[in-house]
Amino acid sequence: MSYEVGIVGGGMAGLAAANLLASQGHSVVVFEKGHYPAHKVCGEYLSNESLPFLGKLGLDIESLGGQHIGRFAITHPSGKKLETPLPLGGYGISRYALDDAMANAALAKGAIVLQGVRAQSILHRPMTDDFEIQTDCGPFQFKSVVAAYGKRSKLDKPRGFATSTPDRKNNFVGIKYHLRSDIPDDLIELHLFEQGYAGISRVENGRTCFCYLTTAQMLQKAGSISQLEHRYLARNPYLAHHLSHSEHLYSHPLSISQVSFGDKGTVWQHSLMAGDSAGMITPLTGNGMSMALHGAQLAAYHLDRYLRGLTDRTRMETHHARDWRAAFGLRVQTARRLQGLLLNTHLSSLAISILRPLPGVARRLIRLTHGKPF
Ligand SMILES: Cc1cc2nc3c(=O)[nH]c(=O)nc-3n(C[C@H](O)[C@H](O)[C@H](O)COP(=O)(O)OP(=O)(O)OC[C@H]3O[C@@H](n4cnc5c(N)ncnc54)[C@H](O)[C@@H]3O)c2cc1C
Repeated sequence: MSYEVGIVGGGMAGLAAANLLASQGHSVVVFEKGHYPAHKVCGEYLSNESLPFLGKLGLDIESLGGQHIGRFAITHPSGKKLETPLPLGGYGISRYALDDAMANAALAKGAIVLQGVRAQSILHRPMTDDFEIQTDCGPFQFKSVVAAYGKRSKLDKPRGFATSTPDRKNNFVGIKYHLRSDIPDDLIELHLFEQGYAGISRVENGRTCFCYLTTAQMLQKAGSISQLEHRYLARNPYLAHHLSHSEHLYSHPLSISQVSFGDKGTVWQHSLMAGDSAGMITPLTGNGMSMALHGAQLAAYHLDRYLRGLTDRTRMETHHARDWRAAFGLRVQTARRLQGLLLNTHLSSLAISILRPLPGVARRLIRLTHGKPF
């Protein structure tokens, strides 16, 4: 069988692109190696900039139980704290609920979503200018491909960033679980600890998402997740409080490794990359999901023009790369620098002291790591 668009990865980016392209009348197949609903490593704070776009896809975050969040606090192991209203605000919503709703919305628009099917390779065939995606269920043929397989995949093996030696930009681990805790409903907290930070905020059904990022080196030094929390996270008094006064709702934390914030590239062997596979913003911004949705919108726009014969493949690829850089380049760079600063215990302490009497500057920094509603 031959289709117009093959999408590898049914997360935020893949499902948004599928939804748009299917509603434009294109035949679309999404390959998702997992199943819906499922928990994912993510801080689950969705910036309000995505709300108009999600509306176009047929999703209403409030009806999914999303928890409105309008305030932000950052704390330091020394006990320093800075609190400010969020310029745009957002919603706490679990990936368990959100990805499932996105998959149903894409299905309703006519996309085929194959769950439990892993793409093993994506091959562009120059003679016919089409693609073959090899999967667990055999090969599929497509006119075009969106690669939206997230933070890290075996498919990344030949890409430059995946072969570079581990360093400060490309060797992080993420850990997440849900809690029942006493955090206020409308507040998102970012707690710093040595070589890492933890986000905590409410999602639907009275649950709290607890998610942190640290270096692989720190986890190795601690020896285990529980030791990491006990020996390092708990040195921040706010984190110590949450860790000892909350009920854990997962039997085991979820974790991911080899998280890279290095440059990745927005087109790879003629596939348009979208979401984390195109480039990751550091999670302290809470902007990755919005970037994935917005990046999918850009990819779908260019693909639709290509499939309708309004542009050729070379222009489509160049324009996708250009638009991605224009939309996200500055915020990704700013967020990377901000993360570098916050991971340094002395500099982050100084930054909190300087910014505390200057809430306008803090809000400006937050704005720089976000986009406008789209
Ligand atoms: C610690 C941490 C905290 C974060 N917190 C936030 C936050 O609070 N707010 C926010 O907006 N962003 C946050 N992010 C970022 C956010 O999670 C991502 O930017 C977002 O999920 C990107 O969406 P995506 O579609 O690119 O990838 P994903 O949502 O990861 O989807 C990729 C999908 O591809 C599938 N897949 C992979 N390989 C294959 C294959 N070979 N075949 C088939 N399927 C495949 C996977 O199963 C997955 O479902 C955080 C990230 C981290 C690491």
